[in-house]
Formats: sequence, structure tokens, C-alpha cells
Amino acid sequence: MNLHPSIDNGIKTANPGFSGGVLSCHCTTNPVTVRINAQTAHNHACGCTKCWKPDGAIFSVVAVVSRDALEVTSGKEKLQIVDPSAAIQRYACKDCGVHMFGRIENKDHPFYGLDFVHTELSSDSGWSAPEFAAFVSSIIESGVAPEDLPAIRTRLAQLGLEPYDCLSPPLMDAIATHVAKQRGLLPA
Ligand SMILES: [Zn+2]
Ligand SMILES: [Zn+2]
Repeated sequence: MNLHPSIDNGIKTANPGFSGGVLSCHCTTNPVTVRINAQTAHNHACGCTKCWKPDGAIFSVVAVVSRDALEVTSGKEKLQIVDPSAAIQRYACKDCGVHMFGRIENKDHPFYGLDFVHTELSSDSGWSAPEFAAFVSSIIESGVAPEDLPAIRTRLAQLGLEPYDCLSPPLMDAIATHVAKQRGLLPA
């Protein structure tokens, strides 16, 4: 069962001291390149239907990085926003379809300031390792048979990726804390 090439054969660990690298789209000529000047965080497998997945994968693998640390270094003219009405504006290469980064423009969003990236697009190794699996039940919306879900959850757990049907508890807590602060129920 192919979950995603970055996790199917075990998880590669991060390099301590790793400080970034270059992501390239799949175009063989004039690829879009994005330079990331930092280590990523919260890397995880995602089963939602919005994140970009490589061919044949059931999950996406996606991490975040400060938007200040991300710079489009070539092919900017080939980028287009997949769905301008979505909370996360995913910038895809219009030739190969690969998503180069997702950005949140709403300053009130809990994850404002973070860009979403797929570090498998980099030939550099040492990026932060996937830590959990999010939105696992959502893979059914992409056509995975519901009866396959127990085996997929077991496989994720074997790989060390705790399966969740939303985000991980620390991220869900961070979102709820943000909401409570906006409502004045917790000190800002
Ligand atoms: Zn491309
Ligand atoms: Zn997703």
C-alpha cells in the first residue's frame, strides 16, 4: 500500500543544524524554484483533498516554515493560485501542477505567518521529519475504500505517525487558544 514515497520505506530523521534548501517543481525545463532559509516544522502526512500529492500517493506530506524564510527564486511567472477562495492560497506550477507553497493572507488565521511546503521537492536532505498523520478519514473523499482505513491507520502507527482525523492535539490546542485569545477569554 503506497501511502507516500517519503514515508513508505520508513521515516528519514532531520539533521540537527539543517538550515534550509531549495524546492523545485517537476518541470524538466525552467522549473519553478523556491529557496527556504530555515528548517521546517510540524511536518506531517495529510489526508485532506486540498494538499498536493505525488502520483499514486494517498497522503500528502506537508510542513510549515515562516513566510519570511521563503523566497521564489525562479519561474515565478508560472505560479498560479489553485483556489483563491481557500484559507490557504496554494501556489502551483501551471505546467506540472506541483504546489510550491501555500500561504495564508488572513492575519486573524491561527497559522498566519506560516507557509506550507512539501520538502520532498528538495534534493537536500535533513528536513524535519514527518511527526503524525492528519485528516486521515478524509482520504475516503479521494476515493479510498472506507474498509481500508483500519489497515491504513495501523500502518501509519507502525511508521511512528500517530493517525488523527483532524490535526494533532498540540495543533488543535494552538488553534483553540488563538480563538480564545481573540475572544478575550485568555490573556493575549
Ligand atoms: Zn512545474
Ligand atoms: Zn492537507
